Amino acid sequence: MGVAWSACYGTLGMPRGSGWDRISGARVATFGAASSDKRWSARNEMKNPFMARAIELSLENVKSGRGGPFAAVVVKDGKIVAEGTNRVTSTNDPTAHAEVVAIREAARALGNFELAGCDLYTTCEPCPMCLGAIYWARPAKVYFANTAHDAAKIGFDDRLIYEEFQLPHSRKRIPMGQLMREEALAAFQAWEKKHDKVKY
Ligand SMILES: [Zn+2]
Repeated sequence: MGVAWSACYGTLGMPRGSGWDRISGARVATFGAASSDKRWSARNEMKNPFMARAIELSLENVKSGRGGPFAAVVVKDGKIVAEGTNRVTSTNDPTAHAEVVAIREAARALGNFELAGCDLYTTCEPCPMCLGAIYWARPAKVYFANTAHDAAKIGFDDRLIYEEFQLPHSRKRIPMGQLMREEALAAFQAWEKKHDKVKY
């Protein structure tokens, strides 16, 4: 995807100096949750107001029965621009994970298919689908609370998907086969020639 990936790495790459140092510095000081003390600890991170909001939403989601125990918020310029909770079972949408719901809502609210300059706070380490969605959305940073291991312990185990990535298509649990490449290439060729396309 050429341009798209280079743009992606340009946004997500660590050399920008907007990585982990940011939460321990000015960004968090904005909320008075912590000073720029270099002895920043995991305990203080737990007091992050955005993650606290995501955790609150995840608890509400369990109580309401609308979906799994997951929530996410998207933050830009110190403000929450979108919230998302898991809606898989209540909307019969297998892709309605909290991160995807939050990303869709943030993109809609910001009127942009890229979440440049945004931070995503999710209550659990993203699954492979959400990780893909995150890379396509290109936020500046992602923070998570529970680990994938924590999720596996309560029945949300995504190891299978990671294992499937390693297998040839024919050996995947859901086998994949190729059909009609020549015909399908017509759309790619039309895209290449299109002068007024919106790249992403
Ligand atoms: Zn997910």
